[in-house]
Amino acid sequence: MITPIQLAPYAAREANSRGRRYPEPSPHYRGEYQRDRDRIVHSAAFRRLEYKTQVFVNHEGDMFRTRLTHSLEVAQIARSIARVLHVNEDLAETIALAHDLGHTPFGHAGQDALNECMREHGGFEHNLQSLRVVDELEERYAEFPGLNLTYEAREGILKHCSPLKARELGEVAERFLNQRQPSLEAQLVNLADEIAYNNHDVDDGLRAGLLSLEQLEAVELIHSHLREVKVKYPGLAGRKLIYETIRRMINTLIVDLVDTSVARIQALAPGSLEVIRAHNEPLIAFSAVLQDHNLELKRFLRTHLYKHYRVHRMTAKADRVLKDLFSAFMQDIRLLPPEHQAHAQRQEATHGNSGRARVVADYIAGMTDRYAIAEHKRIFDPRELT
Ligand code: MG
Repeated sequence: MITPIQLAPYAAREANSRGRRYPEPSPHYRGEYQRDRDRIVHSAAFRRLEYKTQVFVNHEGDMFRTRLTHSLEVAQIARSIARVLHVNEDLAETIALAHDLGHTPFGHAGQDALNECMREHGGFEHNLQSLRVVDELEERYAEFPGLNLTYEAREGILKHCSPLKARELGEVAERFLNQRQPSLEAQLVNLADEIAYNNHDVDDGLRAGLLSLEQLEAVELIHSHLREVKVKYPGLAGRKLIYETIRRMINTLIVDLVDTSVARIQALAPGSLEVIRAHNEPLIAFSAVLQDHNLELKRFLRTHLYKHYRVHRMTAKADRVLKDLFSAFMQDIRLLPPEHQAHAQRQEATHGNSGRARVVADYIAGMTDRYAIAEHKRIFDPRELT
């Protein structure tokens, strides 16, 4: 086992890990959390993130973020924060790389559509699906289903969970039933995710021409940094002006997050991870001022980017594609590829209609944007013969 040096007493430690669901011998020359990360990088679900929408559909342009590049940006930010807080960088990276594995094609539009389809069958939530991918859906190992990750990685992947689902999931979700907190590594990935998407969505929105700098100046977080850049580099324009602004925004948010979190950790002076878990609120946080600025940016993006008519057109199309696929597979199971068909029949035999629905939802959720479009064409376009 490799123990990273200089870990704080409240960091997640392999020596205190709650282990894997199926016990395995320790790896050579790697730590347990490194092994978790490596399994994620080698998984099929991870590779498929390359062709899944973040905000813009993959084929809208090569320069936009995808779920894959988003996950890499989250991992970069999470590692920086973990290192400075002396918590477990390997675990933080693992959680960051895995956090969006359960995303459907077409981003949040896809998730909402699938959730509606699954209303009578237990619903669909991408975060729960990420856990399902690593626990069950990846098929790679002879001795267990899924990737058999450590408890700490699985707990970190499960960001939110209803009490009903938490009772179903058991140990990994127990904190949602007894109001406990996850590790600092999980807490910081959660906010690294926010820092990443708020900033890259501004960048992508500008690149796509759906947002303008003039419009963005109404947002304090952007306004203050843009002004700073313009003072320092009068005459700077275009991509450099945008990037100099965004890199400052990311930096301000990370520095604020670290300063605020360090102060909160020092005030509590936790002697172990158990104290972090038992605390009444998360210790990783932005200051009140930055929290407000961040919220303002989020609201701005919701109104002006996520609800922009060009994004909405994609959302509406995605909704139709996924709902069509779901109802076609539910009506005629023989439309599914043979291995999914056999699996659906087995699940239906034990869990009825909801068993079949879950297999269909898993199949659709695993699709990339372009695969979903092609599959829709194959099933609905009479000119497609195969
Ligand atoms: Mg994310």
